[in-house]
Amino acid sequence: MKSLEADFRDRGLFVRLFKDGVYTVGGFVRDRLRGIPSEDVDLLVAGRRLEDVVRSLKKHGRVDLVGRSFGVIKFTRAGKTYDVALPRTDRAMDKNLPDGRGHKDIVVRTDPALPVEEDLRRRDFRCNSIALRLSDGTLIDPFEGRRDIRQRRLRLTNPAAFPEDPLRVVRAARFASVLGFRLDPEIYPVAQKVDLGGLSIERVAEEMVKILLDSSRPSRGLDELFKLGALRRLFPELYALTLVIQDSLFHPEKDAFGHHTVWRHTELTVDQARRLAERLGFPPPKALALLLAALYHDAGKAETTRWEFKRGRMAVTSVGHDLASERIARQAFRRLKIFSWGGFDVASAALTLIRTHHWAAELWQNRASLTKKAFNRLAAEAGGEIELVAALDAADRAGRGGRLVSGLDRQARWLLGKFAELNVTKESIRPLLLGRDLLPLGVPPGPGMGALLKEIYRRQLDGEFETKAAALRAAGRLLRPAAAKAVR
Ligand code: ATP
Ligand code: MG
Repeated sequence: MKSLEADFRDRGLFVRLFKDGVYTVGGFVRDRLRGIPSEDVDLLVAGRRLEDVVRSLKKHGRVDLVGRSFGVIKFTRAGKTYDVALPRTDRAMDKNLPDGRGHKDIVVRTDPALPVEEDLRRRDFRCNSIALRLSDGTLIDPFEGRRDIRQRRLRLTNPAAFPEDPLRVVRAARFASVLGFRLDPEIYPVAQKVDLGGLSIERVAEEMVKILLDSSRPSRGLDELFKLGALRRLFPELYALTLVIQDSLFHPEKDAFGHHTVWRHTELTVDQARRLAERLGFPPPKALALLLAALYHDAGKAETTRWEFKRGRMAVTSVGHDLASERIARQAFRRLKIFSWGGFDVASAALTLIRTHHWAAELWQNRASLTKKAFNRLAAEAGGEIELVAALDAADRAGRGGRLVSGLDRQARWLLGKFAELNVTKESIRPLLLGRDLLPLGVPPGPGMGALLKEIYRRQLDGEFETKAAALRAAGRLLRPAAAKAVR
């Protein structure tokens, strides 16, 4: 039997505690075999009762039990958390029974005496069904997982068990996308029949986020979601785009059947956005905002697309789709529970990007006659996230082709250059006056104050004044007639 060096910080401790009864499983082994470092360590301890495992671990760190029945322990030591599980079998059972983690139809039975091979049988894909014994590096690979990794393909470990957990359908798309593996053809007919109704939407969102952030080409995962029947059932607002065509003159990109669909354009735009986020060094929350914006930027085309006789020919137009897209995306983000991440409001940044995704191109078209005002307004509308605006603009344009870009194109670089040249930044568009600045002028808090602040901010963006003192003078001038009216 082949062996492999498994090294991570606390390996020695686990071997001391559990001798040759402790294994790493899942992603850690898979990624080691692919020659890729893996952060997340999942462990399996065989031959010991849950109580004994807990007692041993408690002496060396914090222990949290994740649902006793699952037999999964979270063990945290010096800032690193390990998932430690006991061998178990999962069995399908009646729906509508309470569960701990959203595995709605599964009952779990842990059994210390269960052979490791049996635990591997319940796992989703063969490349994930490999165990690595920590004491000597022995690989236990009863389902040809290594062969699948070499051949870069995903096969089901146990086809009969696949429908038991509908999340596996979405995980299939995620692994295909993130690992760049092919799905075994036998998965599709099985997946199509799985009832996705009871799936926890948070876990679906988690997988979607991984598809977007962790794939070099997220379109792989999006395409698999479509082919597995999961897009239609879990993201109907995106599925609708597979049936909407675009003008072939402006959108030469085609799907596998030669149709110029909005969905194909969306997939390519997401790929380009992923590449640009990497090239521009966006941190994950910012990258996610860009990717979600790319995914939903044209969602409104499903309801706004028309044939129109224009400039001597029949053309496909989608007037007002940006606002429709924003509305559809807002509903989707609420459903998927996408809000803030690391203090950055991902959902609202993405919505802003969707709403403004045509502004950059409009500025470019009118570039001969623009003043600072126009750039101020776009920056303000985008909450100061001008790099994100430029990135989505470039991704949208590049989403007409399959070749990944190497950076921002000339048009997007022009936009950022103008912002720099005119000194338009997140700081420069910050309102000079806030409510508390108006209180000393005798303006009481309320809708009147709100309207006044809005008007002053409009004038600030128009370039009427650039300092706080000048803004206060302008407020004073605006107040005089109103104050007089109030006195009368
Ligand atoms: P990641 O790189 O995201 O950590 P992973 O393969 O380790 O990928 P986890 O979600 O950490 O995935 O799960 C660990 C292992 O548990 C998987 O490799 C798989 O063997 C098994 N597993 C997880 N979820 C399921 C599921 N829904 N059905 C079957 N097996 C699962
Ligand atoms: Mg893992």
